[in-house]
Amino acid sequence: MNIALIAHDGKKPELVSFFLQNKKLFLNSNIYATATTGSHLGNVGIEVNKVLSGPLGGDAQIAALIAEGKIDLVFFFRDPLGKHPHEPDVQMLMRLCDVHNVPMATNPAAARLMLSALKGQLYDEK
Ligand code: PGA
Repeated sequence: MNIALIAHDGKKPELVSFFLQNKKLFLNSNIYATATTGSHLGNVGIEVNKVLSGPLGGDAQIAALIAEGKIDLVFFFRDPLGKHPHEPDVQMLMRLCDVHNVPMATNPAAARLMLSALKGQLYDEK
């Protein structure tokens, strides 16, 4: 699986700890992340393919990968209380997830639900 991980600044610690807790599930996955999110993940030993930082076009790069059918799941922990200069890119990314029917979790509760579905599927395949 190819997974995209993105978090706004206020949500990066939450995304990193969420991913660390569940990293066994993603051992055979390719992880794509925006640059700063990717650095945080790298600091805890998670190997990622980094694109540009979100405000510099990284969300648009992830959106392009989604449009090309190269991303299976998106975890984008958004900060609804912050201002983001790249909001148009964020909207584009979310729109392309909807266009291409790619599941996206934008908060930890949705991410947990998505993961439990994934765990169930892995269990069913055994
Ligand atoms: P960042 O980008 O990981 O480079 O901070 C995330 C974003 O704000 O979209």
